[in-house]
Amino acid sequence: MSQGDVIDFYAETYPEARAKFQLAVAQSAGQLTSYVHPGAVGPDHGTLAMDVGCFGAVDAPKAFLILSGTHGGEGYAGSAAQIALLRSGALDHLAPDTRVVLVHGINPYGFAHWTRTTENNVDLNRNFVDFSGRLPRNDAYLELHDALCPKEWTESSRASSRRAIDAWIAAHGQQAWMQSIMMGQYDEPTGLNYGGRAPEWSHRTLEAILAQHLPSVRKLAFIDWHTGLGQPGQPFFLCFNQHRDPNWERACSWWGRDRIETADGYDGAARPTYNGLIFYGVQRFVAPAEVTGAVIEFGTLPVQESFDQLRIDRWLKFGHTPDDPDRLAAMRRGVRDAFTPPDPAWRRGVVAHATEIQLQGLAGVAAW
Ligand SMILES: [Zn+2]
Repeated sequence: MSQGDVIDFYAETYPEARAKFQLAVAQSAGQLTSYVHPGAVGPDHGTLAMDVGCFGAVDAPKAFLILSGTHGGEGYAGSAAQIALLRSGALDHLAPDTRVVLVHGINPYGFAHWTRTTENNVDLNRNFVDFSGRLPRNDAYLELHDALCPKEWTESSRASSRRAIDAWIAAHGQQAWMQSIMMGQYDEPTGLNYGGRAPEWSHRTLEAILAQHLPSVRKLAFIDWHTGLGQPGQPFFLCFNQHRDPNWERACSWWGRDRIETADGYDGAARPTYNGLIFYGVQRFVAPAEVTGAVIEFGTLPVQESFDQLRIDRWLKFGHTPDDPDRLAAMRRGVRDAFTPPDPAWRRGVVAHATEIQLQGLAGVAAW
């Protein structure tokens, strides 16, 4: 299949992204199944769905699972990455013991609305905790919530936020700050990185998809595509396998130890501990199968700037938004561009890296 201009792998709207993905699956002779969201619609009041493209025998013992759109607005790059794999032709001749499952738009509400969270303001990548047990506490976040989430977004409200946050960091340290904002929180439903109080539709549907489409998997490679962290346009790997266990070592052999073991990405702080990641959910859903994989980010803005865009994303839902439609539109555009930069060089570079990384994963599964 011809590659054409890879810029065309990107869409500007959710319906366009779906259509491109569905066409690429059909033209690659994959099997497409769509899981329609029963309780949410897009900004055009259109259908939201998770689209799943499957390749290879359903009872294959080895598989590669690739997700896009966990953090909605990051899905445009993840979608382009999946389409790049489809267009590479690599799925047309899989080994008989290998299956590939592409889940497009796992958080379709966020994808369609260009926002990080689900229809319930839930950060889907904090939602895969065990809700039958006690939920993780994050008292530090609650101390910081008012400063992080001011009602107004003005020069003066931001300055007073900044003072409060700086004072908190001076008292508790950079590491505690990073931990408080990244680990997820389960107490403030209008807050940042809210993990929810129950499994989201996307969570339950992913569990059903894995049961239906990967019933016999024993060895699973996994990528969850994201954008935001890391150097601009460069892949930044977050492997959530146990450090130095066989799955970790396998990820190093597929993608390079220097990438898996990098300490970059958090403004000098160590990687925080996260709760409720999809990675952990996938491990649970396919157990006792082995899972080797990573969340892979493509860097956009410096950490502080992209974090401010997340705060604006949240404020556009819950804050005192301006009456000025031009200012509102500019703020929405800022959030979009922070996670899917329009720069053609960034977009082409992401597709090139993502294609290589996915082919490395595919070769890794074949040799596993
Ligand atoms: Zn993300």
